This record gives sequence, structure tokens and C-alpha cells, in this order.
Amino acid sequence: MKKIQGNSVSSGVAIGKAKIIRKRDLYIERRKIHKDEVKVELSRFKKDVKFVSNELDKLIQDFSYSQENRDILESHKMILQDPEFDKKVSKLITKDLNSLEHAVSSYFSEAVEVFNSMNDMYLSHRVNDLEDVSYRLLSHILGVKKDVLEDIEENSILIMENITPSFVTKVFKKNIHGLCTERGSKNSHSSIIARSMNLPMLVNTMGLMGNIKDGGDIIVDGNNGYLIIDPTKKILEKYKTIYSKEQNVRTKLLKLIDVEPVTIDGKIIKLMSNIEIPQEIDQVVKFHSAGIGLFRTEFLFIDFEDLPSEEEQYEIYKSIAEQSNPNSVVIRTIDVGGDKLSRILNIASEDNPNLGCRGIRISLKNIPIFKQQIRAILRANMQGNIKIMFPMISGVNEIIECKKIIKTCSEELSKAGIPYNSEIELGAMIEIPSAAVISDSIAEVCDFLSIGTNDLIQYTLAVDRNNQAISDYYKPTHPAVLKLIKLTVDNAHQLGKKVAVCGEMASENKYIKLLLALGVDELSVSPGRLLAIKKEIINCDISKIKPKLDKILACKTSEEVDKLIK
Ligand code: PEP
Ligand code: MG
Repeated sequence: MKKIQGNSVSSGVAIGKAKIIRKRDLYIERRKIHKDEVKVELSRFKKDVKFVSNELDKLIQDFSYSQENRDILESHKMILQDPEFDKKVSKLITKDLNSLEHAVSSYFSEAVEVFNSMNDMYLSHRVNDLEDVSYRLLSHILGVKKDVLEDIEENSILIMENITPSFVTKVFKKNIHGLCTERGSKNSHSSIIARSMNLPMLVNTMGLMGNIKDGGDIIVDGNNGYLIIDPTKKILEKYKTIYSKEQNVRTKLLKLIDVEPVTIDGKIIKLMSNIEIPQEIDQVVKFHSAGIGLFRTEFLFIDFEDLPSEEEQYEIYKSIAEQSNPNSVVIRTIDVGGDKLSRILNIASEDNPNLGCRGIRISLKNIPIFKQQIRAILRANMQGNIKIMFPMISGVNEIIECKKIIKTCSEELSKAGIPYNSEIELGAMIEIPSAAVISDSIAEVCDFLSIGTNDLIQYTLAVDRNNQAISDYYKPTHPAVLKLIKLTVDNAHQLGKKVAVCGEMASENKYIKLLLALGVDELSVSPGRLLAIKKEIINCDISKIKPKLDKILACKTSEEVDKLIK
């Protein structure tokens, strides 16, 4: 038995078989071809090598600031331009009648073997380069990569170097028990999705890939941040007991489904769900959520191969609004950028993406794409239960711009005789400190505000939410963050507007009483956390915490706050 420490980003225990997914796992069929096909394969070879070389050229340009990276990429180009490479692969196709992918894969396997057998430090670095070029070229040749999830058994625990948000959403459809990665962080979108699915997950699990064998028994202890490899019988039994206790707790929580989220002193809290992909609506309906407080529409721009059309978006929004009716759905406009990268939006690479072209900035720089989304939303709003929310608002002007665009879209739809409903509430996300500071002005031009604590913490404390190495600085209860939340709530209430919290703080039991005492009216949480948060609301007496609020807000450090709210 072996125990490795990681950081838990989604609690709970998972017991299952390890399924290792390496970035470089491509499925290569050892296919033989007919003589007639040789010409076609050779011409594919030339074309595909040219394509990948051009791709490398583009990358070299993008790395204009890093000579080191450019040199690496230049050396990759040289591997492709090596006459030996051309000669050997051509021979494997012409003489041995191997398919192009078979020939390329054989060439690189042999080259890697030769370099490895030389036992030389410099050459071992070259192996990484060869593997990189091989992966790049073969992925292109194969076009659509084989879906690695196809081979995954139901009780698997996925072991990966890192996981992208779009991959977690794919996992959603499989009955996978847990996730464990070598890298990652608590506030990345991958972790948020794992929590919403109640999927125990560890990140930052050092030396993970080298310690595990595929198919071996493992346990993810998401409560204490441990991965247990080849557990003894005794440990396995212990964890089976914990697992069944956790299932019992979940079953008990189900009894709260129809209980109203009202505090002991009588304040009704609107408790809604955050969704990242349309499939999550099933959870929203199952747990009788009071609607969707945040529909992150990024998946449309991250998972799709091409830009989603207005019609595709309309169908998705309409379906979510119908399934939610009579409850409302807050659709957040495109918020790619940061760790949510989109290939199809073609955003230029930036030195500082979190401070770059993300959120509303992308929409306002790509008006036709933004208008498509707005038109789709207005058309889907025939039942009147949709609201629009804008991400990454830094000031009033952006909202004014958005309103103009909504007006233009309405006029265009009217002219075209397409049914739509522009009676729609508009909200701003408060996730940049400037927006919190001038939340009085922002509340004047909006119908509601929603605090995105994930980014508000990131930008207030200047701490990258995805960088595990500095996660000690990521402090939700930092006095500066609490003061900004309080200011936002007070400003909005002055104008009779409601304030929600849709960041991850709202999904954590330990912060609920504090948020309610700060005056927050609504919470939007991961669907998997909805009932646990409801329990917290029901057990909360705001009138008892309120008198302590001044003391909490006067704290000088988050540690002091944490002590007080414990
Ligand atoms: C937030 O920043 O708190 C938020 C809800 O938005 P996202 O996590 O999608 O950036
Ligand atoms: Mg955000």
C-alpha cells in the first residue's frame, strides 16, 4: 500500500480502479494499405508535414518574446525537415505498404528507442522533442482523436497530468468515481465542475503518474487529500464504511428537496444553481433548485469545433428555459479567456491572459458574435424567464454598450419578423474590484448584481486563482474581500436591487452564515452542493450573527475572521 498527498478540490471518498490517461495516448491502427493507395498516402504525408510545419511557424511567431521557446520549436521543425525522416517514412509506405499513421508512428517509435538506448542526458531531452513532434503530427493525421473515454470502465478513477474543463464535462456523462491529477488548483473551472458533479477530486498530487499502475485498486480520499494505492484489506474496509456513511448523508439531504430555504429568523433565501453544460439541468430539476443563477455559456465556445450559430444557441437556451420554467435562468454571456481557452474565437496569445481580453471585453471586440448570442437569448425568452448577465464588468460604460447592442438586436429581430421578447432583466457580475467600488453606479444601470467571488478574490488579492503554488494567498475571508461584498450589497440595497453570490464561496458551508449576515439575498451554487447549502441556510439565524458583523469586518486578517466565524 502507498499513500500520496494531494490537494482536495472536491470532497468525498471514491473507491475504484485506476485509469491512467496520458496526453500522448493516441490510438494508432497498424493498418496495411493496398498498392493503389500508396500515391494517396504519400501525398497526405507531404500535405500533413507541411501543415504541421506551418503550425510550428505560427507558434514561433507567437513566442516572439522567448528565444528559448523559439529554439525548441525550430528544432521540432528540423525533425520534420530531416531528409532521413522523409526517406524512411516514404519507404515504410511504398515498400512495406504501411498506412501513413502506421509509418509515422513506426518511424518515431524506432527513433525514440535508438535515442533511449544511448543512455545520454542530452539525447534523452531529444526524446521528449521527438515524442512531441510525433504527437503533433499524428494528431493532425488522425484528425479526430480517438475518444479516450470510450475504453473507460464505469468504476474508474481517472489519473491524469492535468484536466481541462471540457474534458471534465465529457466525464460527466460517464459513471466515473473520482479524479486525480498531478497539477491543477481548487479554483480552476475543472475543479468547479468536479464539485458540481459531486466527484471526489485531488489535484497537485506529486509524482502521481509514476506511482500508479493502470487498472490497480485505488482510493481517493477527497476529505483529507490522500490518494491510496493498492490499499490493504483493512484500509479498504475502512473506506467502504466511510463511503456508505457519505451515501447515507446524501440520502438524508434528499429529504430537504421540498423544504423552503428560509433562515431561523425568517429570511427566505433564493437558492439557485450554477450550470456549465446543458446536461446539468437534470440535477437542477432533481434537486428542485429555484432556477439557474449562472449558466456559464463558455462550453459553446470551448467544446464546439466551429462557432455555434444563432440557431444552435437559440435551441439550447430555449430548452434550458423551458425545463427551468417557471423559475428563471440567468444566462451569462461569453466568458472565455483566462483558463477557459477557446480555439474558435481565435484570441491572440497574451502575456497576461487573466488581465487581458476576457469576459465582456471579448464580446465588445467581436460584436457580430456577441449579437448572435444576444439575438439567440432574446428569441429564447418567449416565456419571459430568462435574464442576461455580463461577466468581467469593470465600469458603467460596458453595461451601456451592452444595452445598445440589445436594442439593436431587438430592432433587427423586429424588422425580420422573428418572434422575441426583450422584456428581460439585465445584471452585472461584480468580480473586478473597480466594479465593487462603484457598485452604486453599476446598480443604477442594472436590474440585479451577482458577485463572482472566484474572480473578485483573484483580482482583489492579485492572486492567480489557478496557481496552486500561491494558493495560500487566495483567501475568501480576507477583510478586503468582505468589505467589497458588504459595499456591493449595501449599494444595491439602497436602490432596491437584489444581490446574489454565484462564486464558489456560496457553495461552501463555512461561508454561508457570513454571506447571509453581509446581506446577500440569493445564492447560486453547484447543483451537487444545493441541498447541503440549504441545510446550512435552514440552520442559520442571521439576527444572531448580525451583531458580530462589525467585529468581523473590523478584523485585520483572514485568520482572525476565520476564527470568529468558526
Ligand atoms: C466567479 O468569478 O466567481 C464566477 C462565478 O465566474 P467564473 O468562475 O466562471 O469566472
Ligand atoms: Mg468569473
